[in-house]
Amino acid sequence: MALVNELLDKLIVEEVGSRLKDGAAVVGEIEILEKRIKMNAHVLDSSVPQHCNYCGIGNYRPVVNIAQGGGATAVHNFGFNLVGAPVWLILACDHCSNIQVFRPDLNGRGGANDENWMRFAGAPMS
Ligand SMILES: [Zn+2]
Repeated sequence: MALVNELLDKLIVEEVGSRLKDGAAVVGEIEILEKRIKMNAHVLDSSVPQHCNYCGIGNYRPVVNIAQGGGATAVHNFGFNLVGAPVWLILACDHCSNIQVFRPDLNGRGGANDENWMRFAGAPMS
């Protein structure tokens, strides 16, 4: 349902200039939504439970989130050797310990200042 809400957020917008341009753009967004639903994609929103891809039972929780503090020491203590000053988000499943690692500086969309990233990395540290 959260994936559908993402599309509705693009369709129901007060400011005309922020709306999708035309029907073709809406069809394109619906095709992307269909693909994401079929592949059980995650919503990049820390307020939405992030169900584990591996066990299907647990939920991912942030164990390292540089956007919320912790810095390089948290990444190092996790077991990674840092080079430079990248921003990291590392999630661990609270049931099977599966790990998901994110590097927003590699997304090509503004890094840690990207709107999608900021919504996703806003989760408080567990
Ligand atoms: Zn799991």
